Amino acid sequence: LANRLAGLQPSDIRHMTRECERLGGINLGQGLGDLAAPALVRETAIQAIQNGDNTYTQSEGIVPLRKAIADKVRQDNNLEVDFATEIVVTNGTTGAFAATLAAFLNPGDGILILEPYYGYHLNTILLNSLEPQFLTLAAPEFNLVEADLRNAIRANTKAIIVCTPSNPSGKMFSVEELLIIDRIAEEFDLLVITDEIYEHITYDDRRHVSPASIGNLKKRTVSIMGFSKTFSITGWRLGYAVADAPLAKAINLVNDLLYVCAPAPLQFGTAAGLTGDREFFHSLKHEYQRKRDIICEGLERAGLQPLLPQGAYYVLADISNLGYTSAKAAALAVLEKTGVASIPGSAFFHSAAGENYLRFCFAKDDATLKTAVDRLQLLR
Ligand code: GLN
Repeated sequence: LANRLAGLQPSDIRHMTRECERLGGINLGQGLGDLAAPALVRETAIQAIQNGDNTYTQSEGIVPLRKAIADKVRQDNNLEVDFATEIVVTNGTTGAFAATLAAFLNPGDGILILEPYYGYHLNTILLNSLEPQFLTLAAPEFNLVEADLRNAIRANTKAIIVCTPSNPSGKMFSVEELLIIDRIAEEFDLLVITDEIYEHITYDDRRHVSPASIGNLKKRTVSIMGFSKTFSITGWRLGYAVADAPLAKAINLVNDLLYVCAPAPLQFGTAAGLTGDREFFHSLKHEYQRKRDIICEGLERAGLQPLLPQGAYYVLADISNLGYTSAKAAALAVLEKTGVASIPGSAFFHSAAGENYLRFCFAKDDATLKTAVDRLQLLR
């Protein structure tokens, strides 16, 4: 095996999904929505296949999709970008992230991740022989403190990842916090890499704020977004990176080498989704807010303390008073006892704090979610 694989394990997300399938449980572990993909998105993709749009596209993606993304980021993200040179359509946000790391960072460079973090960020960092550097944000608010961020910077720190709304905590970074990142990134000349895959899933009338739209961040930020969670098409693997032209050019070079291009007919489907009825995005928030409230009420009743998420479709539940020896043991015991799978908090933490949490994904149809909540009461 190559050195870069040293210490890399299949994710707990993968492991719990397999255990859940083995036991025939309800999978609130892996984050995937079982809402139906919008009909317009599906039908346009099918039509594209029938029309013969089945061959390579430009590595940066088809023009109609990039034009639709440029309109979308102008409206939703307050970002003015040129569709021709500043957008790269990628194989999921995962693909955008991998291409970004390969384009800008050298082995041994430090990259800051804010804990709790999405495990794929950490593992992709390790895969690229970069040095992960952790800053713990303290529960339950996960506020970013300027002095802490400054203290976390090392001589080799080249970049910082900002996942908002966050997987797994649901934290949304405020304008004030993004201004802190702006100041520190300027002071230490950091690249800022965002993960905004949950941008349309926000609660209690909160508005998603794109880091690149704040202060002077745009010139040093790669904004990574995608369609998986918005249109419930996690298996299509379609995302995109938005960045100033010189950065986008480098990302596109890597994207071409890794994947040639994103799946052609599916690009047509998502383009249609972006230009479709805006009401869709509105009802998405309401639908997920209802689900959030069902799961949080149910967790609380079962004696697991939910940390109310501001966005995304996960909730961290505090299990520290249930007496398990580790989060992994807790996740397996809960699955065995109730038939409900979750992900151990340790998958999202470098520090021991992760042992106190389980992450539940609530992107499930209401009936499934209610059954899961009923079963969780077996823990009382
Ligand atoms: N992003 C999703 C999660 O956090 C799924 C990722 C995956 O299956 N690897 O659960």
